[in-house]
Amino acid sequence: MQNSPPESIPLSKPNIGAKEREYVMRVLDSSRLALGPMLDQFEAQMAAFCGVKHAVAVNSGNSALHLIVRSLGIGAGDEVITTPFSFVASSNCLLFENAHPHFVDIDADTLCLDMNLVEEAISPATKGILGVDVFGSPAPWPQLQQLATQHSLHLIDDACEAPGARIGDTPIGAWGDAAAFGFYPNKQMTTGEGGCITTDNEEIAELCRSMRNQGRAVRERMEHVRLGYNYRMDELAAALGCAQLERLPGLLAARARVAEAYNEALAPYAADIILPANPSTLPDIQGEQPIPITRSWFVYVIRLNEAYTDDARDLALKLLRAKGIGCASYFPSIHLQPYYRERFGYKPGDFPVCESISNRSLALPFYPALLPGQIFTIGDILGEILPQLPKKVKTF
Ligand SMILES: *Cc1c(COP(=O)(O)O)cnc(C)c1O
Repeated sequence: MQNSPPESIPLSKPNIGAKEREYVMRVLDSSRLALGPMLDQFEAQMAAFCGVKHAVAVNSGNSALHLIVRSLGIGAGDEVITTPFSFVASSNCLLFENAHPHFVDIDADTLCLDMNLVEEAISPATKGILGVDVFGSPAPWPQLQQLATQHSLHLIDDACEAPGARIGDTPIGAWGDAAAFGFYPNKQMTTGEGGCITTDNEEIAELCRSMRNQGRAVRERMEHVRLGYNYRMDELAAALGCAQLERLPGLLAARARVAEAYNEALAPYAADIILPANPSTLPDIQGEQPIPITRSWFVYVIRLNEAYTDDARDLALKLLRAKGIGCASYFPSIHLQPYYRERFGYKPGDFPVCESISNRSLALPFYPALLPGQIFTIGDILGEILPQLPKKVKTF
C-alpha cells in the first residue's frame, strides 16, 4: 500500500453537475440505452457548436481518428505528414490502415508542426497532413489548408484537445476535411469514454456513420455493406455529452481562470521555468494581417529551461508526486515510444526540437474546480523543488 500524502491534488478531475445527473437519469428511465434520441441530440449540438453540417459521435477519440483515416481512403503505401509531439493515437490511427506517419519536427514556440518543414516533406507518396491542436492551442489551419489545397492533400485535424478553440470566427472542428474530438475524463468535456467526428463533407459523415455501426447502410437493418466496427457512443455517454457541451463555455472560462492563477503563482520562478505560451494570434505570415485565435485550455504544461540537466524533469515529477501533486510528462515523443522505435528504428536525435521540449515539460494539476489557494500551494511546492534539481555545469 502506498502512503497517501496529506494533501493530494489530482492531475485532472471531471466536472459533473446536476445537469449531467438529470440527463443520464432520463436515459436510464427511458430504457433506451443505445442508438436513441440522446445520440441524435448530441450530434446536432456538436455540429452546431463547431459550425459544421455533420457530427458523428463514437466511443473514443481514437475511433474518431481511425474512421476519418479510413473514410478518406488513406491506406497501404500512403504517407501522412504529422507531428511526433502528440498523444500516440494521432499516429496510431495511420498505422491501423498501414499508412505511414511521416513525422516532421515541431516549432518551439507553437509546439505544432514546423511549417517550414511541412512543405519540404511533401512527396508523391504524401496523401495528407494530420495536424494536432496541441494542449488546446489551434494549429495554423489557414496555412495548412493552403498547402493541402496546393498539393491536393487530405487534411485531418486531431482536435481532441481543443473543443471550443477558434481561429478568427471559425471554430476548431470546422477546419480540414474532418476533425476528431475525444471525451476521455481528463478532457475539457467528457462523456466517460467517447469521441466525435465533425465535417462538412457528407460522404465522410455517411461512411463514418456506417463504419461505426458494423458497416450497416441503414441504422437498424441487418444488412452490412462494408467492413465496419462497433465504435458507437451509447445513450448514457451521449447524455453526459449534451450536458457537458451546454456547460462548456463556463467550464472553459473556469479553466482559463485557473491558467491565469498559475501564471501569477509561478511568476517568481520565471528564471527557471518556461510558462505555457498563450499567443492571441497565429504566427504572422509575411504581408498578411495576423489572425486572432482563441485557445481552449486542456492542460497547464510548464518547461524546465535549458540550464537543467536532461534528467531534471523526471526528478521533478518524482518530488512533486511525493508531495501529493498530480503531474505527468506531456508529451513523450511518439517516435521514441518503444513500439515506434522497434518498428521504425527511430532513435534520440531524430526530431531534436520535439525531444528537447518533451524532455523538459511537465503538466501540473488542471481542472475547473482547482482553487486559487491550491494553485499557490503548488507554486510554493515547486519553489521548494526547483533548487533540488540538477543543473548543467557551466563551461566557459
Ligand atoms: C485524448 C486524445 C486523443 C484520443 O484519446 P481517446 O482516449 O482515444 O479518446 C487523441 N489525440 C490526442 C492529441 C488526444 O489528446
